[in-house]
Amino acid sequence: MCFLLSFLMISIPISGCTSDIEDIFGESWGVPGGLALACLRDDAYREMVVEIDHAPGYSPEPSTVSLLKQRLDQVCDKPDGIQIELTEVNFAETTTWNANKVREIGHETMDEDPQTDILRWHVIMPQGTYSDESVLGVAVDASTIALFSDSIDDSTSILNPRISAEDIENSVMVHEFGHLLGLVNLVYTSPADHEDSEHPGHSNNEDSVMYWAVETFTIGAWLGGELPTEFDQDDLNDMEGMKSGELETKDQLWRP
Ligand SMILES: [Zn+2]
Repeated sequence: MCFLLSFLMISIPISGCTSDIEDIFGESWGVPGGLALACLRDDAYREMVVEIDHAPGYSPEPSTVSLLKQRLDQVCDKPDGIQIELTEVNFAETTTWNANKVREIGHETMDEDPQTDILRWHVIMPQGTYSDESVLGVAVDASTIALFSDSIDDSTSILNPRISAEDIENSVMVHEFGHLLGLVNLVYTSPADHEDSEHPGHSNNEDSVMYWAVETFTIGAWLGGELPTEFDQDDLNDMEGMKSGELETKDQLWRP
């Protein structure tokens, strides 16, 4: 199963990408959700680092960093803590991105491997846009995310001036980490009927940060008031089920 998930408009399935990645990089970086158990449980990884590499002038909002830490602390069992490290990076690409470029440049710029003594997940925040400019963020493998700040800025709308680029960045960041945690149904099958049938990998609940419609409408023109930034009860139950083993998981790069 292979997923490239965008936040705003579309989900782009790429066939056979796990084996492609192995061919290109000589090792598997897995699929989104492939390190879900490594994050949710504390058996192998008691500490976690989120490496956020951003282009000059593209650092995340402080509210995005603190919200992300809060959400990860809520679901991931990391007794020795979750650190978020911000670094300014000049990326080799500054205009047009695609999934392979995010993987290639993401892996090149990552300071350590995802699985040492510490679990490490990686966000790049480069200049430029995805090939489909409506894409605000993508999760491309088990540990790599990109957020496109230029597109986030452009997605604010006069139709809903209450929603700022900062609000959108908050939601997109948590949403993409939700995919790394396996939501929705990426590496397990939920007992709850909360995956939207027409938008695989996404929630049908508008109060979940994994809600599908966030990908369907121009997010700046969101009519439902506040953007969701939280996992809902079904999302939380799914993660609890994966963690306990009650829900069977697949495609894991680490298992207890
Ligand atoms: Zn998504």
